[in-house]
Amino acid sequence: MNTVQFDNTEKAYCLKSNSDLYKSYLLYKLIANKYLVAFSTQIAWLILKLRLPLLFVFKKTIYKQFCAGEQREDSMKIVNLLASQHVKSYMHFAAEAEWSEEGMEDHLQKSLDTLAFSKGNTDIPFTVFKPTGLGSLALFKKKTAKVPFTPLEEKAWERMLKRIELFCAKAIELKVQVLIDAEETWIQGAIDEVAEQLMLTYNSKSPNIYTTLQMYRKDRMGYLKGLYEKAEKGNFYLGVKLVRGAYIEKENDRAEAKGYPSPICESKVKTDEEFNQALHFILPRINRCHLFLGSHNEKSVSQVVDFMKTNNISPSDQRIWFSQLFGMADHITFNLADGGYQVIKYVPYGPVRKVIPYLIRRADENTSVSGQTPRELDLLRKELKRRKIKVF
Ligand SMILES: Cc1cc2nc3c(=O)[nH]c(=O)nc-3n(C[C@H](O)[C@H](O)[C@H](O)COP(=O)(O)OP(=O)(O)OC[C@H]3O[C@@H](n4cnc5c(N)ncnc54)[C@H](O)[C@@H]3O)c2cc1C
Repeated sequence: MNTVQFDNTEKAYCLKSNSDLYKSYLLYKLIANKYLVAFSTQIAWLILKLRLPLLFVFKKTIYKQFCAGEQREDSMKIVNLLASQHVKSYMHFAAEAEWSEEGMEDHLQKSLDTLAFSKGNTDIPFTVFKPTGLGSLALFKKKTAKVPFTPLEEKAWERMLKRIELFCAKAIELKVQVLIDAEETWIQGAIDEVAEQLMLTYNSKSPNIYTTLQMYRKDRMGYLKGLYEKAEKGNFYLGVKLVRGAYIEKENDRAEAKGYPSPICESKVKTDEEFNQALHFILPRINRCHLFLGSHNEKSVSQVVDFMKTNNISPSDQRIWFSQLFGMADHITFNLADGGYQVIKYVPYGPVRKVIPYLIRRADENTSVSGQTPRELDLLRKELKRRKIKVF
């Protein structure tokens, strides 16, 4: 039934020169070694902590694979290249949590500046924000735990809400849809509250705001059903970015250290079941609940493609988006785009020092047993062979 061929490597790597292709292959070979990744992660934290002038090592390797560049202008080059293959982009200043009010204001400014590139540019139809870039992690944590704020904290929370409001209002004025990233369970409760309020405010006519559901969480199916009921009662659209979840080790380690049951599914199979259940719930309700599938899993992508075919939904239907991260799963991105599907790449940028935590997450994700590195390596090898480049 599925006519999208993910293993057309000529299409998948059409934007890569021979040298870039070979570098990607070598990098994935390194990432496949979990001991090397663990060692490099420790070194990266040390370099950051001691402010050692060694970041160039990362800049030449993992940074180049997963980041568009230091400045948003660098991202624009990538956006244009992707657009030449009918792939859309959403750009993000990929610094992780900010700790000071000054840092948060700066993050807002950078996000607004990035948004300005979307003006009149249909190749950048979405934007994204990470809540802890615009507000204090400590306050998200307190709010999630339902601990009352002090008057000063209340003011800081209000300032954070204003930043988010300002960002969303600007995006909507530019006709750009907003994705809200999901983070760790101990802060996600507060993020959910903010996301729901934003959907209530901005999604009455179309889904301008998308919340993110991490299906590795045991409780997300119940949450999705409840959210859908609220959307029906409140007569607003739901935008759902569906992902499996990126903080598995952190979540399990914290649960173990603090002695509470892990909120994460006990196996990959269980996570996949939850993910599939969410798809089964959302797809028949696609009129109200629009889907942004953030996944590199071929089966999940095929499941959605098959549903679209069976139900005569055009590949270019605006209610369903497929998304992959820059530097990963190009075989899915470019082959889907070739079939006319709505595909969008997450294009992060920022100074090496700031994006190291993001890069570490990518390396960890790829090195895990269930990660996609073997598949990436197979495909890169196949394309190198097709181009008659020797692989050692
Ligand atoms: C466009 C996009 C946006 C994203 N945004 C976010 C975001 O906002 N928040 C966020 O947290 N993540 C986000 N992610 C990352 C995402 O959650 C996954 O980590 C990543 O995409 C891998 O999952 P997969 O579906 O692509 O592939 P798969 O390889 O099929 O799944 C890997 C995932 O399965 C789960 N898993 C693996 N082993 C186990 C196990 N033993 N037990 C239980 N579960 C397991 C983990 O979630 C792991 O990441 C995003 C990803 C993309 C592509």
